[in-house]
Amino acid sequence: MDPRLGRMASSSLAFLLLLEGGMFSPSSPPDGLQERVFQYIDLHQNEFVQTLRDWVAVESDSVQPLPHLRRELLRMMAQAADKLRHLGATVASVDLGSQQLPDGQTLPIPPIVLADLGNDPKKPTVCFYGHLDVQPARPEDGWLTDPYELTEVDGKLYGRGATDNKGPVLAWINAVSTFRALEEDLPVNTKLILEGMEEAGSIALEELVQKEKDRFFAGVDYIVISDNLWLSRRKPALTYGTRGNSYFTVEVKCRDQDFHSGTFGGILNEPMADLVALLGSLVDSSGHILIPGIYDHVAPLTEEERNMYKAIDLDLEEYRNSSQVKKFLFDTKEEILMHLWRYPSLSIHGIEGASNEPGAKTAIPGRVVGKFSIRLVPHMDMSVVDKQVKQHLEYIFSKRNSSNQMAVSMVLGLHPWITNVKDNQYLAAKRAIKTVFGTEPDMIRDGSTIPIAKIFQDVIQKSVLMMPLGAVDDGEHSQNEKINRWNYIEGSKLFAAFFIEMAKLP
Ligand code: MN
Ligand code: MN
Repeated sequence: MDPRLGRMASSSLAFLLLLEGGMFSPSSPPDGLQERVFQYIDLHQNEFVQTLRDWVAVESDSVQPLPHLRRELLRMMAQAADKLRHLGATVASVDLGSQQLPDGQTLPIPPIVLADLGNDPKKPTVCFYGHLDVQPARPEDGWLTDPYELTEVDGKLYGRGATDNKGPVLAWINAVSTFRALEEDLPVNTKLILEGMEEAGSIALEELVQKEKDRFFAGVDYIVISDNLWLSRRKPALTYGTRGNSYFTVEVKCRDQDFHSGTFGGILNEPMADLVALLGSLVDSSGHILIPGIYDHVAPLTEEERNMYKAIDLDLEEYRNSSQVKKFLFDTKEEILMHLWRYPSLSIHGIEGASNEPGAKTAIPGRVVGKFSIRLVPHMDMSVVDKQVKQHLEYIFSKRNSSNQMAVSMVLGLHPWITNVKDNQYLAAKRAIKTVFGTEPDMIRDGSTIPIAKIFQDVIQKSVLMMPLGAVDDGEHSQNEKINRWNYIEGSKLFAAFFIEMAKLP
């Protein structure tokens, strides 16, 4: 090897990055701030893991409406508020009153924590959203370790909430606290909004965001969410879109009671036969939705987009094996990802009143309700979709000449979200990822719906960045949820590097 190469590699790295990336800024500021920050995070990683252990130890389950769990949730929010106050933040815990359950029980809604660090008008203000409530977890569900005692095995930190979403929230706080500990000026103003009801439908969040629009959010320039996962185990990702969802019910009714099939079979239009025909008219065996006009407003595929899909790191074989599916509808990585992210899909979820319990029951259901939903993508319009679905089902039903009654309703509607990957903060995030991980991120979307991104985009009208930290196999909501120590620690560095890159933006 040419000995000059070795020397060049270390002394001219910043210069090379500059060449390679065109407008790329040098990977580290001249004063070595970034190196000191990274070093501090490496040296103090056990403390950061310990804080995560303290947070995971709180059973902040928002899903089960039980008074003792609600108390834990309140304790979690108070603990986070304390932590932020110790960092010098101005913290408000917004009381959201209480929640009345169908059984008459009243439970307090955990406060939303609003924290504010710095208001230097020369710096950009970046607001981080996260949630501290978790899905239920019981040891008897098949956890190999106590879900509320963070346990490290082979570099994996197992515990409920480790990746969804306590780990990423703490990574942001770790990044802030590192600048504080080094007595360095934070490169950005940062705010945090932390809620405790995300897993229970973010009760009261949108209302609060509306109310705080001209107060807490007044000076906010950018919003960052870190509440999803990479597509890979090792390669970082940035998320720039999520699908929406419109959920339908279609009821077919003859009468409220069931019939005996021996006494009525043969002389009736059976509601179930009508419903099966209706549901069977929605989608064909290649996954194509058969509702006329449904694809009319789907954004056309651009060449640039096609290239983005090509660059994504996805091991199809492993994906197939881990999902235990013999064959998907599509054979290439690109087609599979596009049909998960940028095309709509229709799923049939179930039938109410279908006597689905085991046994050879001979009733004819008198009334059945079919349930299906359509995952929406840009630029589909929910009210147009609603009309198209109703028209289509009415047409199919009318062709049957059935004497039953049919009623279709859209019971839930969530808009898709997409952002511009050329937004400033996406560029800054890419640079930070390059610095910490030495690679370009996968540019990904999420096939499911994450309503908060759209809420922030609509209400605050600022750029929303989704920057996940967890690996694809973290098992959110599942038994043995974990975050890798590597993801948690490098993720803390990533947020710190992101602050530095954000400060460099014009
Ligand atoms: Mn989450
Ligand atoms: Mn979750």
